[in-house]
Parts: sequence; C-alpha cells; structure tokens
Amino acid sequence: MQAELLTALGQSLVTGNLTDAELLARTAPHPLVQILPDANVVKVGGQSFIDRGRAAVFPLIDEIVANLGRHKMIIGTGAGTRARHAYSVGIDLGMPTGVLSVLGTFVSMQNARMLHYLLAKHGIPFIEPVQFPQLPLYLEERGACIFFGMPPYTFWQQNPAVGRIPPHRTDTGCYLVSEVFGTKSMIFVKDEDGLYTADPKKDKGAKFIPRITLGELKELDLDDVVVERAVLELMEHAENRRSIRIINGLVPGNLTRALEGEDVGTLITAD
Ligand code: ADP
Ligand code: MG
Repeated sequence: MQAELLTALGQSLVTGNLTDAELLARTAPHPLVQILPDANVVKVGGQSFIDRGRAAVFPLIDEIVANLGRHKMIIGTGAGTRARHAYSVGIDLGMPTGVLSVLGTFVSMQNARMLHYLLAKHGIPFIEPVQFPQLPLYLEERGACIFFGMPPYTFWQQNPAVGRIPPHRTDTGCYLVSEVFGTKSMIFVKDEDGLYTADPKKDKGAKFIPRITLGELKELDLDDVVVERAVLELMEHAENRRSIRIINGLVPGNLTRALEGEDVGTLITAD
C-alpha cells in the first residue's frame, strides 16, 4: 500500500516500533465506541450466591424475569465452592495455574448452564465466547443471555504474584465484558450489602462503605475485599467501565434498583 494513502497514525504504526512510548501515546485519539451502551453486565456470584441453592437463586431468577424487556442483561456466573475444591485437588496433583484456570472455567460453566435451564422457558440463551458475535441479536430479541464468567484464556492465564490460584477469575471475566462492550453498568450480585472495611462474615465490627474511589481503597489497604483484586487493577486503565456496583442479591428488589441506576450497595469508581 502506498504510504500516502495511510493516515498520519497509520504511517507511524506501519513503520514505527510498537514499544515506542511516544507512538503508543498517540493511539487513543478518538473516544471509544460503546458497542452495547444499553446493556448491563450482571455477575451472579458462585460461592456467595449460586451455591446457596434455591433460597437465593429462585427469587433472583424471578427478579431477572421481571426485568426482561425493561433492562438488557448480560448475565455472567461465578464458580464458587466446587472450583475451590477442584483447585485444591489440582494443586495437590501439581497442576499449573493455567490448568487450574481450565478447571475453574468448567465450574462456572456448570453454574451458567443451571441458570440457563431456569431461564430457558423465557427464551434466554446460554452463550460461549465463540458466540459473542450473536450477543447483540439475543439482547435485542430476548433481553438477556447467560455466559460463564471465567475469562476464556484458560492455559494462557497469567500466574499470580503469590501462589497458584488463577488471578483472573469470574469477577474479572465479567468485568472485562462490560469494559470492552461499553455497557451501561457492571453489577456484582453477592451475599453482602457491598464493600465493608473488613469481611463482614469474619469481623462483626466491619463498617459498610457505600461509595469509594480506587485511590481511597488503596489508601485503606484492606486485608480482604469483596471483588477480585484483578478487577480493581484493571479499572485503573479502564476506558469504559470506570465504576462497578456490588449489591446484596439476597435482598429482593436490589437488582432492580441497581438496574434502574439507583444508589444501592457499594459503588467503586476509578476516578
Ligand atoms: P463470588 O461468589 O462472586 O465469587 P466471593 O465469595 O469471592 O464472591 O466474594 C464475596 C465475599 O467476599 C463476600 O461474601 C464476603 O464474605 C467476602 N468479603 C471479603 N472481604 C470483604 C469486604 N471487605 N467487604 C465485603 N465482603 C468481603
Ligand atoms: Mg470470588
């Protein structure tokens, strides 16, 4: 191709070095396209939610159904206790992080399948990553779809700084879907009202935090948080998804309130 047919950036990119910081700094000249700005990513927790069985899941399914046609939902699933068991066996057998990531993927798929069968009569499809190109059609036609929350990079999962557990799990996979598709919101459905100063299951004195920035959160230096640390790290460079909401899905109406954009649970913002 003749060089003069290229844009200025095009000429720099085809001839320049992609490790050149100055060149890289020029690769974000336009605002990003928001691919699915009307959709909401809803992550349903594995350990914190689905593992509780019908008492937790059935009312949430009813609430999801009540919101069909009102809010588009891309529903991702956690893995939970069975994945932790699989990790422990895999670790015992000397499996690397990439293989543990494969194991976790299948458990989050089990949960996605079950939620899918509960929603099947409403025409809600379960999709795997190769079917994501059909996602807009499903959202338009049916108002929701279900996917498994683990990011699909299986063996290509990075090693954690400490230990062997895959650092990018289902919170991260769901978050990244929200970021790349530029959705309206990212809602994490768990079993606590949101972020506290400590894990409220272990510390009765833990204080609820309704709203916090990444900077403030770093300053607090909490021992444990309510979402995967990787989500907070990825948010720092987020282009679209610069806020996430964590809600208690055990409280009826909370999901609806979050979908309506109401201030429920904890809002964590990048700014
Ligand atoms: P998921 O089921 O989506 O994977 P997790 O069980 O991994 O969710 O994470 C949610 C849990 O994190 C909560 O049930 C809570 O017990 C725990 N947790 C740890 N630290 C905190 C904190 N600072 N604030 C709120 N919850 C916390
Ligand atoms: Mg988790």
